[in-house]
Amino acid sequence: MKLSLHHIALALVLAFYSTSQQAEITSKIDLPDMGDSSGTIITPAEEKELGEHFFRSLHSQVAINQDAEIQEYIQGIGQKLAANSDGPKLPFHFFVVMENDINAFAGPGGYVGVNSGLIVLTEAESELASVMAHEIAHVTQRHLYRAAEAAGRLSIPTMAATIAAILLGTQSPALGQAAIMAVMGSSVQFQIDFTRENEMEADRVGMQTLQEAKYDPRSMPTFFERLQQSSRYYGKDVPEFLRTHPVTASRISDTRGRAETYPYKQYSDSLGYQLIKAKLKALSTNDDAGTAKYFQSRLKQGTSEQKTVAQYGVGLVALKAQKFAEAESIFQQLAKEYPGQPHYASGLARTALEAKNYSVALARYKKLTEQFPENEAIKFEYITALVRSGEAETAKKNLSSLSYKAQKQPEYYELLAQVYSDLKQPAESHRYLAEYYYAMGQIQDAIFQIRLAQQSKGLNIHLSAILRERMDFFINEQIEAKRNE
Ligand SMILES: [Zn+2]
Repeated sequence: MKLSLHHIALALVLAFYSTSQQAEITSKIDLPDMGDSSGTIITPAEEKELGEHFFRSLHSQVAINQDAEIQEYIQGIGQKLAANSDGPKLPFHFFVVMENDINAFAGPGGYVGVNSGLIVLTEAESELASVMAHEIAHVTQRHLYRAAEAAGRLSIPTMAATIAAILLGTQSPALGQAAIMAVMGSSVQFQIDFTRENEMEADRVGMQTLQEAKYDPRSMPTFFERLQQSSRYYGKDVPEFLRTHPVTASRISDTRGRAETYPYKQYSDSLGYQLIKAKLKALSTNDDAGTAKYFQSRLKQGTSEQKTVAQYGVGLVALKAQKFAEAESIFQQLAKEYPGQPHYASGLARTALEAKNYSVALARYKKLTEQFPENEAIKFEYITALVRSGEAETAKKNLSSLSYKAQKQPEYYELLAQVYSDLKQPAESHRYLAEYYYAMGQIQDAIFQIRLAQQSKGLNIHLSAILRERMDFFINEQIEAKRNE
């Protein structure tokens, strides 16, 4: 049977929306038809809930990158593309998954993930942008929600976990398997035909976005070709991206033809792209010596900017290998040469932090927060440094100055839990650990932490009430999640 997991994902989402549609039929008469793309079939609130569940579920299955600089970059390029897409008002959330496998995916609720392996494979920023624009198009064209038959009834948590497992290509997670079996039906073949159209449409719409956002449209076919070539080396083990978005010769020639209609222009990569790619390469390697050699071989190649990036790469590998003296001297030199560039000075501050040279690290971060007050990545690293050097009170103050978005990240809750633990407030600490586990998709651990919080001494009425409310909420979620098992 020719059946890709991508299409089961579609069937699953559709199964979900058919039940919500039935609910609507009873309340409304002028119901839009199934092919309607206005977003009325699954309500925005339901989609938001499904998306949040999906993201938590991802956290429990793979390592979502938590590096503040990398997050800031991927959000930046993603939001720029989204703003130039045909759904500029839709909510989007972009993130990097630390997996060497080549993959990118769009889940419900505008959650778009790109694997570190894919970013490292790109050879130009426009190539990365072309993959992201394609995923954004799947979202704006509502491919996850369009047309098809109903196949079953699933709870939102089960649906979310299953979509996550499918998009990641996770091998038979117990939860996903049961749900997949529940929705496999007669409509599967139809899905496959429909999805080929979806792929073409995502290419076409994505290329438009790419061009509007001032990236090179020619990068799309170029990257598809690179993907196809790379898959030859994989043999049977095809990259996940190709499984969920099959790249055919006709897609390559189609996108090539369309790209050629745009006037030829020279495009250059942003420094941010080059630095983040170097960072991901350094972070994700298992072979520090080999990666160091790779960057060293590039110290004398290309433009002066590329040489500088290679130097940065050498510094990052040295830092990762805890060669602090070497990292210190490299970042010193870079920060001195490029004082307006936050990445180099951050590398220098991080070197002091990793070397447990706390007073120096704090002084460097403090200076950076003054020089780049809007930079959330620096703020976050500064707070981490404060926590690690035992300055819990100052850390707490700074945590409250983070943006609303940052305050919903699991790492935010983790820092907060540590701060309260240091301040000898165990109930608060367990409470925030519970939020951390919840954000990580580990509901059982969240419930356990609430219980520990409730057993802590010196609980006031206000906190008791919050804990009771959160306990009820988590238990309800757990019941809901188990409904389809
Ligand atoms: Zn696709």
